[in-house]
Amino acid sequence: MRERIARLMMGRNGVDHFARFTSIAACVMLLLSVLSRRVELLSNLFWILGLALLFYSYFRAFSRNIYQRQRENARYLQFQRKVTGFFAVRRDMWRQRKQYRFFKCPSCKATLRVPRGKGKIRVVCRKCGNAFETKT
Ligand SMILES: [Zn+2]
Repeated sequence: MRERIARLMMGRNGVDHFARFTSIAACVMLLLSVLSRRVELLSNLFWILGLALLFYSYFRAFSRNIYQRQRENARYLQFQRKVTGFFAVRRDMWRQRKQYRFFKCPSCKATLRVPRGKGKIRVVCRKCGNAFETKT
């Protein structure tokens, strides 16, 4: 049985990160469809979306156009890194909120960090070199 599956998947894309994401999203949609069954339109919408995502996951896993599928996967991973990076920065800012004050550079909008409790200080933005005074 295992050998037969291995032979079936030969030369095909298989389950990559993006396929894992779309199949989880499909499960969430199908679950939402069941949970929202009292609102028929909404339930049908989730059902159709869930099935579409499920078929898309299978389509990608069995696809022989590996080059194109890998490009999609790379784009997905790039997007995923951006999202996780965004939240990692927010989490770090939250953890350091007692020691540091965060604010945006008025000129280039870069996020700056200064130690708290130093009174009024002159800040020079590392990104654009803009200098200004602020309270800590
Ligand atoms: Zn700046």
